[in-house]
Amino acid sequence: MRLIGLTGSIGSGKSTVAQRLRALGVTVLDADEYAREGALVLKSEICQAFPEACAGGEVNRAALGRLVFSDPAARRRLEALLHPYVRRRMQEETEKARQAGHRLVVQDIPLLFEAGREADFAGVLVVAAPTALRKARVMARSGLSEAEFEARDRSQLPQEEKVRRATWVIWNDADLDTLHKRVEAWYREVAG
Ligand code: ATP
Repeated sequence: MRLIGLTGSIGSGKSTVAQRLRALGVTVLDADEYAREGALVLKSEICQAFPEACAGGEVNRAALGRLVFSDPAARRRLEALLHPYVRRRMQEETEKARQAGHRLVVQDIPLLFEAGREADFAGVLVVAAPTALRKARVMARSGLSEAEFEARDRSQLPQEEKVRRATWVIWNDADLDTLHKRVEAWYREVAG
């Protein structure tokens, strides 16, 4: 089985690429999904560490997101709680796919390079798009302000560095149909 990492900067189109790969029959494991699961499973630990992001024992993910994006030390504390959980769940699901005989498993990890994970994969696929496009897409989708987008983008490794470290790059600088064609071409190259 080939294990491949999928990453890219905010709003580059990672989720859209992941969706397309799933439609092609690839097993794609989503770190954000396991982080959401982890926020539920570990809610008492999180609420103890970040009482200001909780109400009635429940984690308010938007409040938690705002808190950690404005406070690097808080972010590191949250990551220390969540990352081992996410990693363990993704390993479990990867193992299940291996046992089921899947030939290709993709792990979608937004902070793959920042977490120093590239050596865990046979290769890393980076989705990239011009920053102005990423900004417009994210602002349209999530209602994040321009300043919030820029703060989040700056808190990550620069896109050009992700592209430099990539095994493969898919440029998402055109319409969705073009993106789908590029994903299919990549899939044929890797699976073929
Ligand atoms: P994030 O880092 O915020 O999770 P992401 O990298 O997963 O983002 P997507 O969610 O796939 O990015 O894409 C961001 C937004 O841009 C989505 O609303 C998506 O539908 C839209 N989008 C992605 N690619 C294109 C494209 N080629 N043309 C038009 N819209 C696009």
